[in-house]
Amino acid sequence: MSETSEPKHGFDTLQIHAGSQPDPATGARQTPIYQTTSYVFRDADHAAKLFNLQELGYIYTRIGNPTVQVLQDRVCALEGGAGAVACASGHAAQVMALFPLMKPGDNFVASTRLYGGSVNQFNHAFKHFGWEVRFVDTEDEAAVKAAIDGNTRAVFCESIANPGGYITDIEALAAIAHDAGVPLIVDNTTATPYLCRPFEHGADIVLHSTTKYLCGNATSMGGMVVDSGRFDWSASGNYPALTTPCESYHGLNFHEALGGMAYTFYSIAITLRDLGMCQAPVNAFQTLLGIETLSLRMERHCSNALKVAEFLESHPAVEYVTYAGLASSPWAARKAKYCPKGASSIFTFGVKGGYDACVRMVDSVTLFSHLANLGDARSLIIHSASTTHRQLTDEQRVAAGAGPEVVRLSIGLEDPADLIADLDQALAKATAGTAAA
Ligand SMILES: *Cc1c(COP(=O)(O)O)cnc(C)c1O
Repeated sequence: MSETSEPKHGFDTLQIHAGSQPDPATGARQTPIYQTTSYVFRDADHAAKLFNLQELGYIYTRIGNPTVQVLQDRVCALEGGAGAVACASGHAAQVMALFPLMKPGDNFVASTRLYGGSVNQFNHAFKHFGWEVRFVDTEDEAAVKAAIDGNTRAVFCESIANPGGYITDIEALAAIAHDAGVPLIVDNTTATPYLCRPFEHGADIVLHSTTKYLCGNATSMGGMVVDSGRFDWSASGNYPALTTPCESYHGLNFHEALGGMAYTFYSIAITLRDLGMCQAPVNAFQTLLGIETLSLRMERHCSNALKVAEFLESHPAVEYVTYAGLASSPWAARKAKYCPKGASSIFTFGVKGGYDACVRMVDSVTLFSHLANLGDARSLIIHSASTTHRQLTDEQRVAAGAGPEVVRLSIGLEDPADLIADLDQALAKATAGTAAA
């Protein structure tokens, strides 16, 4: 038995133990890296049972691997889900999350406050599948309701939205989605399950870029889709992939055969099998190592971020700071409700002097790394408008909280005084000779 079925254990215990046991072959205590593509069948009958889903086991690493399985079970336990499937990246997780739900001509409604890469993926790449995205400001409940129609199959948001430190009202959005008979999908990358557990607020599916805080050391790409197991796919007839006989799986009706595990098994048996975005075993191993210290790291990420945000808020060259952990944040009440332990460690601030000052700022830091990632042990800085959000229109950039004057930080685990000193000297250089200096 894995720890997944032991809800009595607390988060700190689950992040170390859930899903793992001493290796049955060797007794190895740490989860081994099963760097193998394939697995020997006991006999022809065993092989047939595996292919029929009558017995669970390993066939081929594209659809299942013991190291990846431990990661799936661990994230599933931390989120409080029913099933989880890992994949190659956060972007792959977004495809994987929607694939069982969407046909050509269907649409999904998404928050405008998203990671820039997600906006691009939804707007452009998904068109090739015939999937339409409808972006709405999720603060405007009437607009969310108006965007949903008979072909809408999901509502999509981020818990703590990248890059701005905005916190979504998950409960309100889940209620709107459920009224319309569609699931709410929450990208919980920035919060991690340590800070926010979307299933407790009505979300149906949670996804992650495990590349970020879950791994935490910037070594390994990965994604994860977790299902609450609670959404009734059969209620509307709008999810035929899950509720009608599957032609490419000898007529299996996933909903009838697997109930609350239908979505998870579809993601393995169809999505991973046919789209092939599996996670590499060594990446799962690195991510498992990261997750062992998730709660400790997130506490430090949050306390460091708060100190840096307070410093910036009082700096004369700074126009505003968006960190939701600040007492002055418009999202302070939501932070208290959805992520009381902390507001994670990415946020943006506006530099007086606009685009040019921002570019000088990222060129002047010495301890911060100028790069496109977040959730690393190292502190990171990026000017979103000239990088991650470059392909967006001006309007989309402003809607996503990535206007020309915006610098995004991902605060790491270093000494906060050193981070503050680095930003202080960089701001002085960035605004030298301007009115803000
Ligand atoms: C990074 C990120 C993604 C994409 O994940 P990759 O692992 O880079 O593919 C999706 N959503 C959010 C919130 C992210 O930060």
